[in-house]
Amino acid sequence: MLLKVWGARGSIPAPLKPELVTQKIIKALTWAGQQKIDLSNMSAVKAFVDQLSFDGATVGGNTTCITIECGSDLLIFDAGSGIRELGDHLMNARDEHAQRLGFCRGKGHAHLFFTHTHWDHIQGLPFFTPLHVPGNSFDIYHIHDHVPQTLAKQMEANVFPLRFDQIRAKLNFHQLKEGQLLKIGEAMISNTELKHPGKAYAFRIEADNAIAIIATDAEYRSLDNLDTLKYRNFYANADVLIFDAMFSVRESFVKQDWGHSSALIGADIAAESNAKRLVLFHHDPSTTDSELMQIKQETEEYLQSQRHSIDVVVGQEGWEIELKNPTLKTDFHITERAKNGVIFLTLSGKFGGQATDRFRKHLARSLQTHQVNKVVLKMNEVSEIQMAGIQALVDARSDVMSLALIELPENIYRVIELSATTDFFAIYKDEQAALAALKSY
Ligand SMILES: [Zn+2]
Ligand SMILES: [Zn+2]
Repeated sequence: MLLKVWGARGSIPAPLKPELVTQKIIKALTWAGQQKIDLSNMSAVKAFVDQLSFDGATVGGNTTCITIECGSDLLIFDAGSGIRELGDHLMNARDEHAQRLGFCRGKGHAHLFFTHTHWDHIQGLPFFTPLHVPGNSFDIYHIHDHVPQTLAKQMEANVFPLRFDQIRAKLNFHQLKEGQLLKIGEAMISNTELKHPGKAYAFRIEADNAIAIIATDAEYRSLDNLDTLKYRNFYANADVLIFDAMFSVRESFVKQDWGHSSALIGADIAAESNAKRLVLFHHDPSTTDSELMQIKQETEEYLQSQRHSIDVVVGQEGWEIELKNPTLKTDFHITERAKNGVIFLTLSGKFGGQATDRFRKHLARSLQTHQVNKVVLKMNEVSEIQMAGIQALVDARSDVMSLALIELPENIYRVIELSATTDFFAIYKDEQAALAALKSY
């Protein structure tokens, strides 16, 4: 699954102030001078700017919005002002990714989840352009009763020019129970209640053998083991833990019942729940980029002092991460990408009778979505293959003009040999070799 942040601020959008832009420019030019960067050389300038980190960019000022893509499913979490940027991207007909998702043609579909309805989590929705394109459709999931009414309320005539019922996309609301498990494509999604005024909900998303937790707007009032157990269980083994770090620890202790937490408390909970990566999130609107960088450094220092190796990331607009762990046991997974008229499917896990139906359906769907006829199957994560798997591969040849198998592990190749079907397939060492061969078709 691909996770991307479109807005990481809490409370209210916080655009970068003009004087801070000036400061960044002064700092950068001074450093460039000290390092004697050749400013007439574009690639030298680019390399220098890349290593400036937040001094050469910004965390961003939009309020919360996160997307997760699993196969062909788009999941959106919260509709803070960041969702406007997501909408602009989805409507860009010249972008291959946006084109594939279809929102610009009125053929898009997404799943939209709400953690809660405080303004910073819903205020971008009226400006989310794909909503205003007839033909698009959205499944909207919420746990609080009042979500549909609250979304409609922020578009009443005295506060907004367009009414909620004038939205032209099709909206299907689904109220989930606390703890309800939901399956969307290959993704399993569950939720748990967080301590926050009016309640907020954390989401746990499992797909591609990886785990992402979105836990924004949460206070951990008591840090005693018994009281954090529920959260540590829900966050367990996360590849990414998105954590409300709006306050300093000091503020967490002073501003009780305000419903927010801090980076160092996040560090403890991440360590105790065996998370790999802690993403600091829901930044205070007045915290600057350099202050956030300092919070990150202090959090790293704290974790090191506890001998924990957890990556600390400052949630930043545009930050994205592909989460995927190799499957060694019996689970079977398919991930997909399409490039230059070729569909690449990565198969992983055990390819036996339990997996063939999914493989056939996925292949048929991919061929229809992309309208291309060349398929490359990447096999390096397949742990074992049975005759049912071989049969599905043999059958696939009649659906596809050119089918190539690449990166075959020795044991998988040997089974194909044992089934005396090696000559049924075009087998290549890697993607490059397959692409070169496919070109001639
Ligand atoms: Zn919030
Ligand atoms: Zn809130």
